[in-house]
Amino acid sequence: MAQAPPPANTGQKSSNPQQKRPSTLAPMRTTRFWVMLAILFAVNLLVGQLLLGVGQSPTVTISYNTFLTQVSDGNVSSITSTGESITGVAKKPVADSSSTSTTSTKFQTQRPAFATDDLETMLQQHNVVINAKDPNPPTPLWLSLLFSFGPAIAFVLLFLYLSRRAAAAGAGGILGSFGQSRARLYDAERPAVTFDDVAGIDEVKADLQEVVDFLRDPKKYQRLGGTMPKGVLLIGAPGTGKTLLARAVAGEAKVPFFSVAASEFVEAIVGVGASRVRDLFAKARAAAPAIIFIDELDAIGRSRAAALRIGGNDEQEQTLNQILTEMDGFDSREGVIVLAATNRADVLDPALLRPGRFDRRVQVQPPDRRGRAAILRIHTRNIPLAPDVDLDQVAGQTPGLVGADLRNLANEAALGAARSGAANVTMKDFLDAIEKTLLGAERKLMLSDIDRERIAYHESGHALLGLLVPGADPVKKVTIIPRGQALGVTLQSPIDDRFNYGEDYMRARMVGALGGRAAEHLVYGVVTTGAENDLQQVTRIAHEMVARWGMSPKVGPLNYTADGDGSVFQQRPYSEATAQLIDDEVRRIAEECLADAEKLLTEHRSQLDALAHSLLKNDSLDEAEILKVTGIKPAAAPAAPAAPVTQTSAAR
Ligand code: ADP
Ligand code: MG
Ligand code: ZN
Repeated sequence: MAQAPPPANTGQKSSNPQQKRPSTLAPMRTTRFWVMLAILFAVNLLVGQLLLGVGQSPTVTISYNTFLTQVSDGNVSSITSTGESITGVAKKPVADSSSTSTTSTKFQTQRPAFATDDLETMLQQHNVVINAKDPNPPTPLWLSLLFSFGPAIAFVLLFLYLSRRAAAAGAGGILGSFGQSRARLYDAERPAVTFDDVAGIDEVKADLQEVVDFLRDPKKYQRLGGTMPKGVLLIGAPGTGKTLLARAVAGEAKVPFFSVAASEFVEAIVGVGASRVRDLFAKARAAAPAIIFIDELDAIGRSRAAALRIGGNDEQEQTLNQILTEMDGFDSREGVIVLAATNRADVLDPALLRPGRFDRRVQVQPPDRRGRAAILRIHTRNIPLAPDVDLDQVAGQTPGLVGADLRNLANEAALGAARSGAANVTMKDFLDAIEKTLLGAERKLMLSDIDRERIAYHESGHALLGLLVPGADPVKKVTIIPRGQALGVTLQSPIDDRFNYGEDYMRARMVGALGGRAAEHLVYGVVTTGAENDLQQVTRIAHEMVARWGMSPKVGPLNYTADGDGSVFQQRPYSEATAQLIDDEVRRIAEECLADAEKLLTEHRSQLDALAHSLLKNDSLDEAEILKVTGIKPAAAPAAPAAPVTQTSAAR
């Protein structure tokens, strides 16, 4: 079995923190930078020219024959040979062999390697001065120095220049910018959302209305001598609308909204988070009345004592301390209110919750049926709905879904209608969207006949027990089309929201969850890996029954669950003997449920076969078809209320 899919958190994100920063280079500085580059370039060229010897009086190139002729004519006064190449000085100018118009007394030529003439004797005969150079002369010291250190020196110069500029530019510069550059992100935002865009959590809105009134007119409140809370902590499951609410408060009060996600503070460089916090508060106070919103506070606000910290959490701690300091350092009379959101209030550092800090806490609950309908209405404002759409009915079929899920649902329905080219969104689009949201998208997967049959029996086991066990949630659908992570799904959906669980109901769920495994065992005599999810559920429920809800007579009416953040270093709040007892009781309950499941399925083997065969033929069956195939009468609505759970069973 799997819980309803985790609500997708697709909130309207607060202002994107990665806004583009305008260039910090002032025009003057830019020019200087380019001049500097140009000079470097010129120096480079000059060195090159020197090395090539350009700029001396021209040397003509002559062919080797011409050279020999010039020697025998007695026109050559001296030569210098470097390996096979010869440069020389003539008495009268000689013409270049390629362009006869260029003449010079300086010439150069190349002696072919295969030449066998006795050049030396010939030169001697014509009284030519003979010099020779090492063909691989050692590079002069200054040159090799320039070559090896030149680039490095250039870099050092460039770096010095840049860092000087950075220092001059101060906070805006490249190197000095870490702590503060993001500060410009704390530009006030003025959200357009209001309380009209939030539904289903009216109590919370009422709580926050006071904050809105205060921000609208801080003076009015001061006059009466009361002080506003500095910090309000919104606590609630993901997707319940905490971020939305915070923005709506700012929107209602028409004040600037400075928002930051605490996870943004968690950065590699120690000290950055703290300086950002300082900056954030400074900016907001300057803009008062204003709201500071710290999202996902638990990212840095985790209790410092609870867990043994591994690795560098200095940054986290410093940031947290800075938040505490800042919150102590101002007075709410300034007109700044800090809102924060978390879904883990239990792990927050107690220091955050002290009076004068986040001393006002507001629980944001998942919406009930009416709330869900209201949320759906908000998110279908801009969707053309067909007359048959009944949002109250949609709300009735979606217990457990939160605001973000419902927004997704409306969107999914609209997309589905658009895909089929319809002019408006019909009830069927909504039902399809519910199925997709609750069961996951269908998946193409080639399964062998043996596998399909096994999955059909597994799901039939879940479904049949869902029908047979009193108090279980009604079975809405069973399918062996792979969806999401699951190979098959049985969807059981409570008739309405349930807020209290009875022991019977917990047992019914466990029996149902074990139905897949029991059916496989009954039919094939073996068990498969397909029941992994189911067993996880069973283990969890059984453990909670024993250790949390006091449903085991042997363990007694005690709650042995430890608070804290589930750290491995946490100590168990009970003895070894109790641990053993808990384990034994958990095991007993699970085994009793499995025995029940196997007994019921054995007794109803023919219905199990019928359901499995029908599934193999039809892939999916809805509630009416399941009842028809099994011949079971629809159960009377369960008397006792129970869980806001949408349970799907999945064979994997
Ligand atoms: P949280 O911060 O609690 O995780 P968000 O505020 O980010 O949830 O909610 C995500 C989106 O879901 C919102 O932007 C909004 O569109 C929708 N939503 C959530 N709760 C509600 C609600 N109570 N009313 C209307 N829309 C909601
Ligand atoms: Mg949020
Ligand atoms: Zn299963």
